[in-house]
Amino acid sequence: MSRIANKHASLGITADQYVIVHKYLFEAIVEVLGEAVTPEVAAAWDEVYWLMADTLIGLEADLYSASGVQAGDVWRRMVVGRRVLQSADTVTFILEPADGEPLPAYRPGQYVSVGVRLPDGARQIRQYSLVGAPSQSEWQISVKAVPAQTLPDGSASPAGEVSNHLYRNLFEGDEVSVSLPFGDLVLEDDDAPLLLVSAGIGCTPMIGMLNHLAATGDPRQVSVLHADRSPAQHAHRAELTELVQRMPFAVMHRWYEDLGTRAAGDTTHLGRADLSAVQIEPDTQVYLCGPLPFMLSVRETLMERQVPAEHIHYEVFGPDSWASAG
Ligand SMILES: Cc1cc2nc3c(=O)[nH]c(=O)nc-3n(C[C@H](O)[C@H](O)[C@H](O)COP(=O)(O)OP(=O)(O)OC[C@H]3O[C@@H](n4cnc5c(N)ncnc54)[C@H](O)[C@@H]3O)c2cc1C
Repeated sequence: MSRIANKHASLGITADQYVIVHKYLFEAIVEVLGEAVTPEVAAAWDEVYWLMADTLIGLEADLYSASGVQAGDVWRRMVVGRRVLQSADTVTFILEPADGEPLPAYRPGQYVSVGVRLPDGARQIRQYSLVGAPSQSEWQISVKAVPAQTLPDGSASPAGEVSNHLYRNLFEGDEVSVSLPFGDLVLEDDDAPLLLVSAGIGCTPMIGMLNHLAATGDPRQVSVLHADRSPAQHAHRAELTELVQRMPFAVMHRWYEDLGTRAAGDTTHLGRADLSAVQIEPDTQVYLCGPLPFMLSVRETLMERQVPAEHIHYEVFGPDSWASAG
């Protein structure tokens, strides 16, 4: 529920909108199920709906209050100060407040929503993790342009709408609508050892956390594990190395499916991520982000190695099917 409430808050959802959703959801249920929706069935659905809605409305009210804004008042105009190509398909946007006012603080691991008007007139909103060091003057997000592809079952999957729109059309000086930061995958402020595990564009919350740890001189023991297709496709590759080198107690392992002509080494490996040789200290807190099959496989390995489930924190860059897949 906390995850949903955070996403709702980043979209500016307000209590009155639950009434609208209720109306159309229940009309749809009646249309699809017809006479099966007896008064008793309708009353039961109604009760469940409002049980969930009231919980979310309460959580969202707390999130708005913690951000110091009226319910739903989360959108800000930001200007692209710089854009930096991270890899062939991923670009970092350095965003500055259009009104020049200081930006609110955020917790490492949080994200913002970005709203864009697409050529067909539709307003679409997506979430992007904050990757930069803490700053009151700029926020940084990295966007991977999701390509069109043919899925293993032969069906076509179109190019991602918003990511490609941002990648192709957003340049220095352009304005964009960005929400305040939200998200419950946040780095806890304690001294437990950290294991940050990511694949592909799932590196972004980890880069945000590492930037925070490096900027604050945090003495925690940190192990960084990242898997990618190749060094050329690894977004934030050089920054990751530099951040790990800045932290006295950090180690890094990277796995690439294709190393080109480069040789594997002690910390750069050929193939898929393999955690069997990675040392995991007791009480380690794990942060995990990447494609769902990757995360499920890492979680299985961690649990085999006696890491308690409550020490494994994760972010899903899409519909959250983690729980049902687990
Ligand atoms: C908390 C959070 C943090 C995130 N952080 C980042 C980040 O830091 N960087 C980043 O790049 N992304 C991040 N994401 C993902 C991001 O929000 C978007 O989901 C991503 O950019 C894709 O959006 P899109 O509009 O380009 O793709 P969409 O148009 O939404 O498409 C998404 C996928 O669905 C497929 N699809 C769409 N329509 C169909 C169809 N009709 N049939 C079959 N398949 C279809 C597309 O091919 C694509 O693979 C994050 C997501 C969350 C929830």
